[in-house]
Amino acid sequence: MSDLEQVIEELIRFRNERDWEQFHNSKDLAIAISIEANELLEQFLWKKEEGADRERIKEELADVFLFGLLLVHKHGFDLKEILLEKIRINAEKYPVSKSKGSAKKYDQL
Ligand SMILES: [Mg+2]
Repeated sequence: MSDLEQVIEELIRFRNERDWEQFHNSKDLAIAISIEANELLEQFLWKKEEGADRERIKEELADVFLFGLLLVHKHGFDLKEILLEKIRINAEKYPVSKSKGSAKKYDQL
């Protein structure tokens, strides 16, 4: 079992022990990802980067990933496959020849 499969198994055990699957529809999981992403943003609000609390950053980042994993599991996606596929798509959108050193969006390259 890969490390990632182990994490998902532990996460599903945590969820099932609390009978929370009933609340985990796709819409609410997507909303939860967004809320946790905003909690992550909050760690940086009105601070310089070095002023943000690393422990809180870790916690909120983990929350984002955990809700993401619940959505991955719900839809039976292969996480490694969808991540590698998206990197491939991004590589097409952002060819090195046009995007190296540039922060422009792909449609403005
Ligand atoms: Mg949180």
